[in-house]
Formats: sequence, C-alpha cells, structure tokens
Amino acid sequence: MESARGMTTVETARLVTMDKIAALCKRRGFVFPGSDIYGGLANTWDYGPLGVELKRNVKEHWWRTFVHRRRDIVGLDAGILMHPRVWEASGHVAGFNDPLVDCRTCRSRFRADHLIEERLGLQVEGKTPTEMSRLLQENGVKCPVCGNATLTDARQFNMMFSTTIGPLAETGVEVYLRPETAQAMFVQFKNIVSTGRVKVPFGIAQIGKVFRNEITPGNFIFRLLEFEQMEIEFFVKPDEAAETFEVWLSAMWEWLRSIGIGEQFLRVREHDADELSHYSSRTIDFEYLFPGSMGWRELYGLANRTDFDLAQHQAFSGEDLHYFDQGENRKYLPYVIEPTFGVDRTCLILLIDAYDEEETIDVNGKPDIRVVLRLHPRVAPFKAAVLPLMKKPELAEPAQELYQTLSDETGVLLDYDETGNIGKRYRRQDEIGTPFCITVDFDTIDDHCVTVRHRDDMSQERIAIADVSSWLREQIV
Ligand code: ATP
Repeated sequence: MESARGMTTVETARLVTMDKIAALCKRRGFVFPGSDIYGGLANTWDYGPLGVELKRNVKEHWWRTFVHRRRDIVGLDAGILMHPRVWEASGHVAGFNDPLVDCRTCRSRFRADHLIEERLGLQVEGKTPTEMSRLLQENGVKCPVCGNATLTDARQFNMMFSTTIGPLAETGVEVYLRPETAQAMFVQFKNIVSTGRVKVPFGIAQIGKVFRNEITPGNFIFRLLEFEQMEIEFFVKPDEAAETFEVWLSAMWEWLRSIGIGEQFLRVREHDADELSHYSSRTIDFEYLFPGSMGWRELYGLANRTDFDLAQHQAFSGEDLHYFDQGENRKYLPYVIEPTFGVDRTCLILLIDAYDEEETIDVNGKPDIRVVLRLHPRVAPFKAAVLPLMKKPELAEPAQELYQTLSDETGVLLDYDETGNIGKRYRRQDEIGTPFCITVDFDTIDDHCVTVRHRDDMSQERIAIADVSSWLREQIV
C-alpha cells in the first residue's frame, strides 16, 4: 500500500498516469506482467523487446559516464550469492527488516510504517515496531481491507530471500540472494587495491540484480522483488568525505540532466538524524514526483557510509582492510561516499517524463490524439526508423540497403517498417520514442536524398543518403 505524499499543482496538470504507462508498455512491448499466461506473479515484471533496449541504454550510458570516462572508478561484477557472514557484518541479518502487521479477521498483511504514513500522515522511519504498534492502537487504525479493528502488533520481517547450497535443505548451507550490490565492493576492496591500479580517492562501480522480499504492492515497476542497481562506492580520506559528498550530489544531478529528466519533478530530501540508516552519517534522497496518488518517492540515494562497512568486514573476516596512503605515509580505513541508482526506477521515470499527448489531426483529417514518448535520443530504444514510403520493391530495396548501411556505420539499433499507411507508421514510432523517421520515397531514386522526420515537432528535412550516417551519429552522442 503506497501512501500519498504531498501532491502539487504541477502534478494535477499532468496527463500521464501509471495506468497509461503500464498499458503503453504492454501494448508496445516495453514491459509485460511476469508469468503472464499463468495469471502473473505479484510484483514481477518482464522487460520486452523495447524495454530491454531502454534498460541497456540506461546501463551503458551510466557505465560510460562513471567508469569509462573517468580514471578514478573501476568496475566489478560480483556474484549474487555471497558468504552468509557478509550479511551479518553488513547488518542485514539483524536489521534489514520491514515492520509488518496482519489483520486477524481477513488475514491481509500490511507495512506498519506505510499504514501510519497513509492513515495518520506521520513519518515513522527510525521508529521501533513497539512505537508503531502504539501509534496504530492509540489512533484506532482499522484494517484497510475489511474495516475491522483487528490488526496485530507490528513485528519485524527480514526482507532477504534465502536459499540453500547443497542437495538437501536440512544439511545444506543457508545463503541469501544479495539485497544490494554494495557489499561485494567492500568485500573485494582489498583485492582491488592490491591490483595496484587505484589510489584513494577512487571508486568501485557495479551494476547488478538484487532481491528483496517486498510486501507492499508495487505501483508497476516502482517496487519489485528483484531489480537492478547501479552503485558506486567511492573511497576517500576520512577528512575529505564531506566535500566529496557535495561533488557526488552535483554529479547525480548532472546524470539526470544527461538522460533528459526535467528538473520540475525532481527534488532532494535530506534525511533527519533519526531517519538515518545504521551505516550512514548523512543521506540525501533524490525524489521524483510520480503521477497520481504516489506523489514524491525515492528515486536514488546518496549516503556517507563513513568507515562502517570496512570496519565491520575487518572485524568479521579478520582481514586487515586498512589502506596505506603513500603520500601521507600512514594507514587508515577510508570513508565511503555511496551514490546509488535504481535501474528500474530510472526506466520508469524516463517513460513517465517522456509521455505526452498532443491534439492533432489524423490521416483522414479528423481530430486525433498523438501519443509521443519524448525520450532523450541517448536512451530511446530505436535511434531511428527506416521506412519506405510504400511497400513497393523499388522503394523497399534502397530502404533495406540504407537500413543495413546505417546499422553498420552507426552501430545503433534501428527499426525497419514497411507495412501500412505511412502516417500510422509515424505514430507508432512516436509512441515508442523513436526520435527520427527516415523515409525513402520515389524522389529518392533520382535525387539520392531521404526525408528525415523529427519526432518532437514533426518537422521534416531532406538529407543526402551519403550524409545520413554522420548526421545520425551527431544527433545521438
Ligand atoms: P524504498 O524506501 O523505496 O524502499 P530504499 O531506501 O530501500 O527504497 P535503497 O536500499 O537505498 O532503497 O536502494 C537503492 C535504490 O534501489 C533506490 O534508490 C531505488 O532506486 C532502488 N530500489 C530500492 N528498492 C527497490 C524495489 N523494491 N524495486 C525497484 N527498485 C528499488
């Protein structure tokens, strides 16, 4: 049960709703309900042919921005299964809990914190289950499903999924599916330092799947049971942590700009002292104004994890994780600044932010609504579509040739579509966010030019076939 948080007038003017996004995603092959033909499995979704491209573009641009373009960040691709002690050291076994309440009458289950936020409008992060139970009781909160005052006390429920290594559940070793990518970067800190390629300040970056046994219903792909994170652990001298935090704050804003997210629906929120996680001395959430009743919700996080994790892993593993700083000729445990980005929430806000409906005239001259995804060309699944004006061999042949040449010369994903009315084909490309349509028509045969149609304003220009590759490359860098 996601709670409503502070809607603004900007929000009420938006045309986009989560239902429209989910419907478009299913219709056009971005995201399908998981296990759909079996009736679905709650909070699981599968990325279809276009969704997988959007997601790859996000991850590749992120990796290029933070790993390839910088000399102070290196990559890691660690396993999903790690030694069980890792999660004791990190605090996840003891503390990665959601407070849950059950209804004794109808057996529905709810997050106590969400129920309190929604029904009483109070922020309860950092409160104990006992304090939450008291709030629910004192205010007579009833079951939102059956309306009876039969809610149990709140109790902690660990959100890590576990499984067993070994042939038998009874004799095997219980391990967890990682609930975050961060820990492997602390666990491999020593190996990475000893490869000799890095010096503090430096970062380790990782993109990967994580798993959380979330109880709350999801709001499409906002809250999933398995999702992907893009995280950086940036190791610094302890006295440089505060300054580095500010640098990362700007870098995260810059990243959002680089994928075309409008600032009007973004804000940052500083965590209060009683809201901070056990490992953090300062946390800022990037929040996005989601449509409808969702309101402002966490998109990304930035935390100063201090030397908590390295100190914990040092204590639990017995390995010395101090860093020897040659410049200063002393040993210390570095502090860690952690920017964390959810891949799926990035895809979701890209779709929401890009969604637009425009009143226009259809091919028969009747009023019509044009649905356009104004995705930044960097993240759009197809960078361009090659369309012969009609399905005739004299047009299809040069169009297919152009498609192949463009594909080879630019290395980007293109669509090719030759069936149906050209107006309808343009609309389909608008709806999936393709920034450019390149049309081969009868004039092309003589003048060796094509018509390029721009998605956003539907303007058209004529470009020589020989120049299309370099023109397209310039548009999408
Ligand atoms: P929330 O408060 O929404 O549960 P969180 O504070 O638990 O999020 P973090 O542990 O900071 O989230 O995770 C880092 C990032 O991973 C989040 O900023 C978000 O982008 C993403 N994320 C977290 N939980 C989920 C989820 N269940 N489904 C999809 N993405 C998620």
